[in-house]
Amino acid sequence: MKKQLIIAGPCAAESKEQVLVAAREAKKRQVDFMRACLWKPRTRPGFEGLGEEGIDLLVEVAKLGMAPATEVLLPEQAQQVMEKILTEVPESKLLLWIGARNQNHFIQREIARVVASDPRVMLLVKNQPWKNEDHWEGVAGHVLDGGIDPKRVILCHRGFMPNGVNPHGYRNVPAYDMAMSIREKTGLKMVFDPSHTGGSVPNVFHAAGEASKYDFDGLMVEVHPNPTEAKTDAGQQLTWGEFDRLMMERQA
Ligand code: PEP
Ligand code: MN
Repeated sequence: MKKQLIIAGPCAAESKEQVLVAAREAKKRQVDFMRACLWKPRTRPGFEGLGEEGIDLLVEVAKLGMAPATEVLLPEQAQQVMEKILTEVPESKLLLWIGARNQNHFIQREIARVVASDPRVMLLVKNQPWKNEDHWEGVAGHVLDGGIDPKRVILCHRGFMPNGVNPHGYRNVPAYDMAMSIREKTGLKMVFDPSHTGGSVPNVFHAAGEASKYDFDGLMVEVHPNPTEAKTDAGQQLTWGEFDRLMMERQA
């Protein structure tokens, strides 16, 4: 099997302790990037993340030798995160991503422009919520228009909003063949997010098992030191023990 890119960690950064425990566990497992979102777009008002205040926690993650990853909603946020982390820990790598709901192509392109300015930063882009191949390909085009080296861009399939057939009761229904077609047409790497696809721990395993039959370049998985206490997406976050089992099953 070719080298897989593994991005794992909590849905959201919640506290210093939670972030640092997760970073140590991720580092032990040689995860490539540890995710922990500072800004959370939510369906309804609720915990929206620690925001700018939380950037220092990601600096601590980088100081431990673990490369951090977080979603950004605006180019200014990308700028702030890059400046702070890469000034304090210049040897660190960093992954920023554009989430499924961020479908304003002016904003997508500006975020890509900011990321393009520093070779230590990678940009991941999730598919839009509704199932449409043309739109998905268009998002990749807008991002590349920002002038970023395509080698630093990773697409991520996280399923599409259910509309009709959904036999496993997924939170978002995957379209593996479409993901493979986009990967082929754009020439970009494509990872799979079984967490936002599955929506529950058993479904995370199920979706990851299905996806292992396709040519994805890696996985983005939500893992929390104590999932039942998670402030967002509690039902789908794995424990580190479950994450180990997921990785073992993929190799089997
Ligand atoms: C997330 O990764 O926590 C997230 C909000 O995902 P998506 O943009 O795929 O809904
Ligand atoms: Mn989440």
